[in-house]
Amino acid sequence: MKLPNGWEMVVGLEVHTELKTASKMFCGCANSFGSEPNTNTCPVCLGLPGSLPVLNERAVEFAMAIGAALHSTISPSTFHRKNYFYPDMPKDFQISQYDLPINSGGYLDLPDGSRVSIERAHLEEDTGKSTHLGGSGRIHGADRSLVDYNRSGVPLVEIVSGPDIRSSDQARAYASELRGILIATGASDGRMEEGSMRIDANVSVRKANAPFGTRCEIKNLNSLRSLGRAIDHEALRQVEVIEDGGVIRQETRHWDENLGETSTMRTKEEAEDYRYFREPDLVDLAPDQAWQDRVRASLPPMPAERRRTLADRLTDPTEAQLDAVEVVIDLGLEPWVHSALDRGADITLALARAANELAAGIDGLVNLTLDAFTQTLLMEQRGELSATQAKTVLGELLASGGDPAAIAAAKGFEQLSSDSLGATVAKLIEQHPDEWARFRDGDEKLAQFFIGLVMKSTKGQANGKAVIAELHARR
Ligand SMILES: [Zn+2]
Repeated sequence: MKLPNGWEMVVGLEVHTELKTASKMFCGCANSFGSEPNTNTCPVCLGLPGSLPVLNERAVEFAMAIGAALHSTISPSTFHRKNYFYPDMPKDFQISQYDLPINSGGYLDLPDGSRVSIERAHLEEDTGKSTHLGGSGRIHGADRSLVDYNRSGVPLVEIVSGPDIRSSDQARAYASELRGILIATGASDGRMEEGSMRIDANVSVRKANAPFGTRCEIKNLNSLRSLGRAIDHEALRQVEVIEDGGVIRQETRHWDENLGETSTMRTKEEAEDYRYFREPDLVDLAPDQAWQDRVRASLPPMPAERRRTLADRLTDPTEAQLDAVEVVIDLGLEPWVHSALDRGADITLALARAANELAAGIDGLVNLTLDAFTQTLLMEQRGELSATQAKTVLGELLASGGDPAAIAAAKGFEQLSSDSLGATVAKLIEQHPDEWARFRDGDEKLAQFFIGLVMKSTKGQANGKAVIAELHARR
């Protein structure tokens, strides 16, 4: 979206990511999503008097891995108490990092070639989770509120970008690339729908090259779609306020996904409102150089490099193929694609099946061996399976695993292998040029004519839908 009358939006993002540690940040309670409410708690994460925090080493390691992947400087750092009252935070303060974060500076390069600077990526603990019942789901107007402290004390890294983003598309690309990096480091599962990655967007508007305007912060955007919509809405709202002679107040705003608009949540707190002071129960954090080096050395390739590696296997890449490469890397499907290519699968076919069928059945990926994927592609290439049949076999493999040849045989696809559906259809088209011409001109009724012929010719072994797909593919 382009803003009217020469206005430009200025956006910076704060991304909170929960770390995939086994236990919480300062206690031994399990860090797991979806447990019975209030079962993963102890005196430390419930903030009971006399309890003391013990820092999770793995959380520090993940934070350093994130910093290294974002080209940040890892420095000696300290923990602070950020004081405020909220029922889901039983200590009445959150342990966070303030003036000395573990990671400072850095940058993230986006697939379109633009660069977004990183200001910092610091460690902090998550709060509990409130659920407000009745009303709109917000605390205002709710009948009752429930609090689950399982999330209280879960380790987080907050990654703060510079105000370098100029469009909602760029914001989405940044969040998506960052999510890929977080998953690659092993620090996060990147599941936005489970709240393990949450985004706050700082949005302001200005005329080109003018000083930055007053910004508003939109809290808790939990999908890329919400992120894009919220930023566009908020920037337009600010332009309208200013053009009507009003001024933008610095405030925190709430995004309502259903209404598609932002509204005032609270006027923005300044840092002094939080009465930050050093956490007296924790020592300074100063990972030694050897530890930092170990973390850097064990970083796997990041998405940008993996995209290049896969795209390099294409001789003359088309836009569609590059889009498929992006989907494959985003979803971590490249082991299947590389393995199939190494064994002679066609790259266009492998990318298409991965970016469509595997992407659609991503939850079943644990059932699909590299070998089964390769075998299915090779059967399709040899004409033993039609495109539709290959998709059916892949669907079955994703649902319950198994051997592609056995699945094809059980479905009766194998009988067609000697006289493949494609070849049968091609022959019948040749024998019936007038009917084919009418079908090609848009007369769908002729599809039934060809299905009848195919059924007769294959003694009923063909699948009607597969025949229609073949006919359309040849149209
Ligand atoms: Zn605990």
